[in-house]
Amino acid sequence: MFVSKVVLENEPQLVRKLYDRSKKYSNVIDLTLGDPDIPTPDSIKAAAYKAIEENKTKYTANAGLIELREAISEDVFKRTGVRYVPDEIAVTAGAMGALYLTAVSILNPGDEMIILEPHWPNYTNMVKMCGAVPVYVSFMGEQNMENLSENIEKAVTEKTKAIIINSPSNPTGVVLPSNKIDEIAEIAEKYDLYVLTDEVYRTIVFDGSFKSILELPRMKERTLLIDSLSKRFSMTGFRVGFVCGPKNVATAVATLQENVNSCACMFAQLASKEALDNSEALERDICRTFKERCFAMTAELKRSKRLKLADPVSTFYLFIDIKETGLSSEEFCYRLLDEKHIAVVPGNAFNKAGEGFIRIACTVGTEKLIAAAKEIVAFADGI
Ligand code: PLP
Repeated sequence: MFVSKVVLENEPQLVRKLYDRSKKYSNVIDLTLGDPDIPTPDSIKAAAYKAIEENKTKYTANAGLIELREAISEDVFKRTGVRYVPDEIAVTAGAMGALYLTAVSILNPGDEMIILEPHWPNYTNMVKMCGAVPVYVSFMGEQNMENLSENIEKAVTEKTKAIIINSPSNPTGVVLPSNKIDEIAEIAEKYDLYVLTDEVYRTIVFDGSFKSILELPRMKERTLLIDSLSKRFSMTGFRVGFVCGPKNVATAVATLQENVNSCACMFAQLASKEALDNSEALERDICRTFKERCFAMTAELKRSKRLKLADPVSTFYLFIDIKETGLSSEEFCYRLLDEKHIAVVPGNAFNKAGEGFIRIACTVGTEKLIAAAKEIVAFADGI
């Protein structure tokens, strides 16, 4: 029997391919998926246990529990100075749920969405699942950060509906500079576009340089803020995320959610409220752990005479230039896996601009990371 065009156009992810292949080796160090080994903090787990004990195991409103939306409103206000009321917030199954349902809420078939590459690959498939068209603008390689705004403006057509930005970025760890955020906001206003700002890594910034586009004047009306608890609180499996935006979009997301998964899991929503109510210390600890891991790994990798990488500024990803090895990104990763049993992701998994790079996710402890780094350096320098 047949499957739909959407399925045929869905691009299988190289990240998953490397992850699946790594399972062949029992002694592999797996640095592929963005799913760190840090346990969910005890206070959050306790809130989840308590909620289950109290039989908070039912459906909720499609938009999510009001007490969680109030906590999200406070959280966003604290960070950006922008106040959303609960009707402007929809709680979803992770940021993935927020991104997909937001895309369905604003895109018609044939519409275009501008995506900055290298980018998290799900954006492409989500846009295509709406029958819309992803249009790429690179901030690395031939096109670059310096000319970013010029290149975004060149990519705008009468079909463009939105730009999606992801700062801090997966896979690069780049935090978009403040002047670039200003320029993207200007373009969005000039061409009347939505800006989806995916800020799932915003609390994992090592030097305080992050600025949200939402903070700029007049941007609230066209910004769709996407966030989740997954990376901030090591809660990937709870599947709680949210979108904040104009009321008609937030309502659309909630209404459409009824047809997909009805609502985010009730006890996970209550655990999320606990996380947000006491976020500061939890986020500080998680950020500190990633900072230590990323700097230790970087110092070790910098011993290589062929690998090039900048000092980390955010997230738990390192994006490493491997061009001097003479291998393609995929050759490098498959050989590294088969010869050294270290699994990392080829940069082209994040689109063309990522070719010549690999992504390492610092998702295991420092000791293991350093052991992996030594093998990676030996491999790269020994080719
Ligand atoms: N956005 C980016 C940039 C990501 O890297 C990820 C997950 O890796 C997500 C969104 C999805 O996050 P969640 O687990 O909350 O769905």
